[in-house]
Amino acid sequence: MDCVFCKIAGKKIPADFIHETERFIAIKDLFPQSPTHLLVIPKAHYSSLMECDDETLLRDMMITAKDVAKKIGVGERGFRLVINTNKEGGQTVFHLHMHLMAGRTLSGDMG
Ligand code: AMP
Ligand code: ZN
Repeated sequence: MDCVFCKIAGKKIPADFIHETERFIAIKDLFPQSPTHLLVIPKAHYSSLMECDDETLLRDMMITAKDVAKKIGVGERGFRLVINTNKEGGQTVFHLHMHLMAGRTLSGDMG
């Protein structure tokens, strides 16, 4: 499948890996919008949140994001998790992923 996150998860193209588990990877976003900007990505392909009915995976994606926040030391200071979904949600890569943003007081503008 011609999907950039499938290729990264399959180690076909490089990325800056921060964390990896059996079902997830966390990588640095190529175009960071905050001092720390990571992506938590399931290895399984779902084109968006709307296509994913795997409740265990959705739960574990958030737990993985929390584990990553702890690992990189932003749990106490704080961070933001975002899932852009489909066109009006601003999704540009159609493989489910969660943004983890941290490193400064984030803008209050949520859209
Ligand atoms: P979204 O707009 O929510 O679909 O987010 C897609 C994100 O993936 C954007 O923030 C991009 O900067 C990021 N991105 C696209 N290609 C890559 C890549 N090859 N490696 C890391 N991040 C990427
Ligand atoms: Zn994919």
